[in-house]
Amino acid sequence: MNEEYTAGLVEQFIQRCRKHGLKVTPQRLAIYRKLLASSEHPSADGVYKKMVQEYPTISFDTVNRTLLTFADIGVIETVESHSGVRRYDTDIAPHHHLHCIVCGDIIDFCDRDLDAVKVPERIAREFTVLGKRVSIRGICRKCAARSAQNREQEPAAHR
Ligand SMILES: [Zn+2]
Ligand SMILES: [Zn+2]
Repeated sequence: MNEEYTAGLVEQFIQRCRKHGLKVTPQRLAIYRKLLASSEHPSADGVYKKMVQEYPTISFDTVNRTLLTFADIGVIETVESHSGVRRYDTDIAPHHHLHCIVCGDIIDFCDRDLDAVKVPERIAREFTVLGKRVSIRGICRKCAARSAQNREQEPAAHR
């Protein structure tokens, strides 16, 4: 992520906080920056572990509540997760996800055809649609390579 782009997002973040009457404290800004710096859709725990290195007195609860507030005012998004742990995404532009069921990685990708997928009318009638995202479940390249390696190491008797 280039610096100019990050600066733009931070500026947008500050504007949005002000609009919602949320004070932009150095700590909140630091949490947002930590999110921006990680592309792996971190959980609250992941953000907390990074924050605590800089702010040794910060509590998990503070980080967790801050993330929920950020999601509330729309500066970040929550991401569906298979483990039931809430994960966060700073990319609020339309994009889609690849979920690796082995390591839990969530990889972003863009695709115009998927963006154009229409929400069925009967759903749009009964449900206020705020966004849509295609989530593809599977096994990432790293994990696939690892399991292929494990298979090769199995004793011959199993073959
Ligand atoms: Zn994986
Ligand atoms: Zn994402």
